[in-house]
Amino acid sequence: MEWLSGLNRSNNQQHDRATSMDFVSKEKRSAIMRGVKGLNTRPERLVRSLLHKNGYRFRLHAKNLAGRPDIVLPKHKLAIFVHGCFWHQHRGCRDGRRPTSNVAFWDRKFTLNASRDKRNLADLRKEGWQTLTIWECETRDLKLLTKAIRTHLPLKRTR
Ligand SMILES: [Zn+2]
Repeated sequence: MEWLSGLNRSNNQQHDRATSMDFVSKEKRSAIMRGVKGLNTRPERLVRSLLHKNGYRFRLHAKNLAGRPDIVLPKHKLAIFVHGCFWHQHRGCRDGRRPTSNVAFWDRKFTLNASRDKRNLADLRKEGWQTLTIWECETRDLKLLTKAIRTHLPLKRTR
């Protein structure tokens, strides 16, 4: 698991001094304020790498599909979203904690995000796609990541 230890360490440091929005980097915060997520983020790359090692073929950021899924496996009719825990409000996850200032503003933003996510998943399923949401925190733990992917795809190689 040492491939992720650096990531975990920096993450813990961030949490130690966490108050409201301080736990996200400046770049991430401005991305959040704009309501967009960067493409090819580290969590996405980790998922792709695992799929690739297992011989799966996929497309990225399919613009023609609802919600522009991060990873699409056409052969398996599977659309994968790699969601940031903060922005998509991962329930029960410490990274999904809401800021303690500007509460009304963030409540509104998160509510909009959640309903958009829900609508995208419903639209995809209506068109016959299976959907899989992988949370950013799961990508930091190879065991959790493997488990999440295995709900939809067999994996032989896990590292
Ligand atoms: Zn999470």
